[in-house]
Amino acid sequence: MPFTPLHMGPGLAVKAVMHRKFSLMVFGWSQIAIDLQPLLAMTTGLVELHGFSHTLLGATLVGLLSGASGKHLGEWGLRILREPRHLPISWGVSFGSAFIGTYSHVFIDSVMHVDVFPFSPFDLSRPLHAIISIDTLHVLCVVLAVVGGLVWWVVDRLRRR
Ligand SMILES: [Zn+2]
Repeated sequence: MPFTPLHMGPGLAVKAVMHRKFSLMVFGWSQIAIDLQPLLAMTTGLVELHGFSHTLLGATLVGLLSGASGKHLGEWGLRILREPRHLPISWGVSFGSAFIGTYSHVFIDSVMHVDVFPFSPFDLSRPLHAIISIDTLHVLCVVLAVVGGLVWWVVDRLRRR
């Protein structure tokens, strides 16, 4: 299913560690961008469900596009949320966050979905598929979200003082 919030779990954990060197806005944008193909597949049936966007090659392309568009989109989002302390988002942070987003997305979906071939078109193996159960993967993502979110929130409050 496209746009599952579970992908934000690792993002919150990375945010807790990297703080201003990572943009959760751009990371989130990259999650939406990479799942546009599954959305298109589900609504039109014209493309493969995961296909190219969920390969390392596709994730690199989506990461480049998300990084290039994410800086201004993320800054716009931060202004709407009235979080000017986090402005501006540098180009390095934008591209870095987008790539962390798309590669972690492919990693997670490679475990979860039978039709994700991360090394396609060079190799059609699925070395990560079902290495852990989907339930365990979901629990891991939720734990990362809760722990990462909590650590980020506490550190952010301490820095405001
Ligand atoms: Zn996906």
